[in-house]
Amino acid sequence: MANIRKLGSRKKIAIVAHDSKKKDVIEWAVHNKTALARHELVATGTTGKLLEEQLDRPVTKLLSGPLGGDQQIGSMIAEGDIDVLIFFWDPMQAQPHDSDVKALLRVGVAWNILMACDRTTADFIFTSPLMLNDYEVDIPDYSSYLNRKL
Ligand code: PGA
Repeated sequence: MANIRKLGSRKKIAIVAHDSKKKDVIEWAVHNKTALARHELVATGTTGKLLEEQLDRPVTKLLSGPLGGDQQIGSMIAEGDIDVLIFFWDPMQAQPHDSDVKALLRVGVAWNILMACDRTTADFIFTSPLMLNDYEVDIPDYSSYLNRKL
């Protein structure tokens, strides 16, 4: 039997933006303020602080990304506690926490969550009728990996 994770109409959205992308993510969030108001927001520390100021609503703020915030979000994804990841990462600049960036992208795919790494994809996700409906996410079957013979 396939494993599924049920998403409700109110989704839990994690938002992360590298410094050079913070202006872009704030612009996007303000533009989508009404759509975002229907959902719960979690963010890395600095991104979350800016979002709270600009959206004038509470955002759960984790540690700053380079100080472990990306890993906190990765852990929440692995535990089935995040529905959507909006991750505006900088393709032109190495980060002190590059290994965490790679890990976060990997864990998002490993658990088949909704992920946008640019504004275009984020716009398509937020205009999907599925954002306001229930949805069942297929959890990939890792049983053969977990039961591998060692
Ligand atoms: P920040 O972290 O929101 O605390 O700046 C983002 C990141 O992962 O670089």
